[in-house]
Amino acid sequence: MNTPTEQVRERLSTASRVTVLTGAGISADSGIPIFRGPEGLWKNFRAEDLATPGAFARDPNLVWEWYNWRRELIAMKEPNAAHQALVKMEGEMESRRAQFRLLTQNVDGLHTRAGSRNLVELHGNIWKVRCTGCGQVTEDHRVPIPIPPRCSSCGEMLRPHIVWFGESLDPRDMDLAIEALEQCEVMLVIGTSGVVQPAASFASTARAAGAFVVEINPDVSSSVAHVALRGRAAEIVPQLV
Ligand code: NAD
Ligand code: ZN
Repeated sequence: MNTPTEQVRERLSTASRVTVLTGAGISADSGIPIFRGPEGLWKNFRAEDLATPGAFARDPNLVWEWYNWRRELIAMKEPNAAHQALVKMEGEMESRRAQFRLLTQNVDGLHTRAGSRNLVELHGNIWKVRCTGCGQVTEDHRVPIPIPPRCSSCGEMLRPHIVWFGESLDPRDMDLAIEALEQCEVMLVIGTSGVVQPAASFASTARAAGAFVVEINPDVSSSVAHVALRGRAAEIVPQLV
């Protein structure tokens, strides 16, 4: 009998379309805290109270201070073995003309730094800013960013180019995601609790469309998966390539 890990590896090696969804858990192994835990707290604020349009309208400087804290934390971190294994998986699939799509809820940019190419950053990127006046999106790697940051074109305040709680995902990203979910034969769900919508429903969408769904998480989360590989992403994902 094959172990569950071997079964998943076999499916991945023959699939012609694979979609991967990652959440904060994959970056936990790089030392970036997930929100739901004592380490996710900042000055006794919960992320849910800061990553919202309402919080930014009330006190933009406070929200920017929090982002400066997160930028500083993330700037020091490196992609881990799980990020790197997904790059290898993408390369292998590409070499046999199979399709690989990576959807991430993470904003830390570690997938890009690791070298992933076919990537949709559903919740934006902490290294991008958007003007609240003219809407221009630019990359900004300053740590700390001067508070409040201003647009160099129109002078209005900049905000993080991040999809906050209560905001909708970019419809183009949603279309790409839905297509990737409906077409895939295998879906890996790595390090996501399945609490934050709409990504929480992605595994069900893929399964309903016929995909074999695999969850990689040290804790039990989704009941949608056909197979659950319990363990840390940096330990499990490299075993699948
Ligand atoms: P989440 O809802 O995605 O939950 C994190 C999940 O990761 C949990 O199910 C946990 O069991 C699992 N996990 C913990 N350690 C793991 C490991 N080593 N390997 C695999 N899985 C592990 O994330 P959240 O922190 O509750 O955040 C909600 C939203 O905020 C999401 O959009 C999330 O991506 C975003 N966020 C992003 C970052 C980042 O960019 N690194 C960090 C925190 C939160
Ligand atoms: Zn502007």
